[in-house]
Amino acid sequence: MAVTVDFDADELWLAEDPANAARPGVLSQARYGARTAVPELLQIFARLDIPATFFVCGGDAVRYPDVLESVVAHGHEIGHHGYTHRSPHLMARDEEETELVRGLEALRPIAGEIHGYRSPSWDISGNTLELLAAHGFSYASNMMDAVRPYTHPGHGLVEVPVHWSLDDAPHFWFDATSWNKTMRSAREVAEVWEEETSAIHAGGGLVTLTVHPQIIGRPGRLRMLEAFLTRLRADDGIWFARGEEIAAAVRAVEVAA
Ligand SMILES: [Zn+2]
Repeated sequence: MAVTVDFDADELWLAEDPANAARPGVLSQARYGARTAVPELLQIFARLDIPATFFVCGGDAVRYPDVLESVVAHGHEIGHHGYTHRSPHLMARDEEETELVRGLEALRPIAGEIHGYRSPSWDISGNTLELLAAHGFSYASNMMDAVRPYTHPGHGLVEVPVHWSLDDAPHFWFDATSWNKTMRSAREVAEVWEEETSAIHAGGGLVTLTVHPQIIGRPGRLRMLEAFLTRLRADDGIWFARGEEIAAAVRAVEVAA
């Protein structure tokens, strides 16, 4: 099981609409994620001894360096989540590469070597995998085509696959601009996650849970998250691992084969 946290704070809202830069109320949601929810998540992971992977936007690393330092101090892995939160498929190749390099430059001084990449909105371009391989990444986590990690042919990058069902955003994210999203109760979401997790576990696959501090960080949802993870943690048959450990395990199996 990979517990992953997409730490996209202000960058999420600025990519939705640059005018959000002048909307303190909108941005207060991002600040809540960074200042209140991340410390709560770190405490939950510490209580359960769960190693996590935080995919961080470079712009948010610059904005909240102390938050990133705290995540690193707790022993979690830091991955790349864009510099801004704009989807790579909307960028020309050069622009995407610049974004990748800026993100690495923002993350490395605090987090050291960066191994993993998850694009904003899991929306990579036709150039993304090649750029990741060229810039020394060992794994990516964007695809919905498997329930087991695998290696991308030609690039050598390991894929740590994901799915919307095991994400918090599609279930909880309320859109105040359009009012077209419904908030589910934490109980309903726990049911979805449990159905999916137990079936993947039974088949020997990988559960990649994805949460966002500003979404999962509400008190009732955090309570659900901790209860959900506590039940899984009690199962000795589940390996909790960071993205880079999963990528290394996949490579080791390939070498042995
Ligand atoms: Zn994101």
